[in-house]
Amino acid sequence: MQPNQGSSVAIIGGGPAGLMAAEAAVSARARVDVYDAMPSVGRKFLMAGRGGLNLTHSEPSEAFLLRYGERRTYLAPLLAGFGPDALRAWARGLGVETFVGSSGRVFPSGMKAAPLLRSWLHRLRAAGVNFHMHHRWSGWGEHGTLHFSTPQGERAVRADALVLALGGGSWGRLGSTGAWVPLLVARGVRVAPLRPANCGFDVGWSEHFSARYAGHPVKPMVLAYTGPDGVESRQQGEFMITATGVEGGLIYALSARLRDAIEAQGGALLHLDLAPGRGLERLVRELSQGRGSSSMANQLRRRAGIDGVKAGLLRELLPAADFADPARLAAAIKALPLRLIAPRPLDEAISSAGGVAFEALDERLMIRDLPGVFCAGEMLDWEAPTGGYLLTACFASGRAAGAGAAVWLDNAKSTATQR
Ligand SMILES: Cc1cc2nc3c(=O)[nH]c(=O)nc-3n(C[C@H](O)[C@H](O)[C@H](O)COP(=O)(O)OP(=O)(O)OC[C@H]3O[C@@H](n4cnc5c(N)ncnc54)[C@H](O)[C@@H]3O)c2cc1C
Repeated sequence: MQPNQGSSVAIIGGGPAGLMAAEAAVSARARVDVYDAMPSVGRKFLMAGRGGLNLTHSEPSEAFLLRYGERRTYLAPLLAGFGPDALRAWARGLGVETFVGSSGRVFPSGMKAAPLLRSWLHRLRAAGVNFHMHHRWSGWGEHGTLHFSTPQGERAVRADALVLALGGGSWGRLGSTGAWVPLLVARGVRVAPLRPANCGFDVGWSEHFSARYAGHPVKPMVLAYTGPDGVESRQQGEFMITATGVEGGLIYALSARLRDAIEAQGGALLHLDLAPGRGLERLVRELSQGRGSSSMANQLRRRAGIDGVKAGLLRELLPAADFADPARLAAAIKALPLRLIAPRPLDEAISSAGGVAFEALDERLMIRDLPGVFCAGEMLDWEAPTGGYLLTACFASGRAAGAGAAVWLDNAKSTATQR
């Protein structure tokens, strides 16, 4: 396919959203230039592939959509245009088959992002997409030119349409720093502050506990949380002790609610069931049996199956007097209160909440007050748990923005020729 030399789309940000926007725009015969601040594109995508790239999820579409919470009404049309099935077919088109894991999550065979990205970039280049690395966008100049800092100095570029796909504010070393926020706010665009999503939390461990147990997984266990809204959730799994608090799948799944509760109330209280296989009565009975000369550590291990990091958590969080009272000790093992005091900083989070408000955009993701400027990906104001929902929405919004930019160009061209 030969690009139409007449109309150009600049795409700033070469993550999954920007690359998908490039693909959609070049398929609509636009001339496409992708700019990125980093030496190469797709760095966060590649990092996502390190732990086993979770591309999307296989659950039914209604359940899938619910993962986007309040923003699902905005994401529904985007996902209807390019949802999980389309994404899997697209990967297959790039020579990468996908499979559904036991949890329903969808992965590429091989679990890695690199083969997919390699094949995709090859196809984009063959279609005529031009890549400009080491181009850090610093805003607009006079007459709408795009300004970039490059190793060769400042560069001004003209484009007929623009797709911004600059990512959120986490893992800044991979390229997305959130430095775009003031640039858009200065142009009057409504942007919700970027906040950590799918993040760990601080507890404020004692030095002794932190030194002894940071990096230890707590498993099996059940995590219970009741938010200020009264909604209760209980889930079995595991989480990880960190130097300052907790992180991991179970925590990430709750992180939006925990973050909001901490913002509203200064803290969030979890309850840990450290012995999910044993009932309270059984624990009280077992722990009430005299331990003779045996140590408390032995008693906990033999009678309650509690040792290692679980015993450490009890010592850290329970008043010493409660160890002498089997009823109170058993109750703590079944529902140990753990108070979270702060989310970890945005840069450490898996993803960002906040971003460009959907209300500022039209249905093609064009900023209403900046005609010809489109936005896509994690820089939009939505959030979702891990499970493939993040990438799916980035791909879907990138596709909509790229196609939208191409349509906008066509309309602008035909208006110009009618004059
Ligand atoms: C460790 C980790 C694991 C993850 N695993 C998964 C997973 O398995 N499944 C999943 O669904 N999601 C996962 N995610 C989240 C997913 O990777 C992101 O949501 C996704 O990459 C966001 O895509 P994006 O295109 O919007 O932004 P990004 O991928 O962040 O890309 C934005 C691009 O914009 C460029 N840029 C930013 N500012 C400028 C500027 N001023 N000028 C020029 N270029 C600029 C950046 O260099 C970057 O290349 C993971 C994230 C992390 C950190």
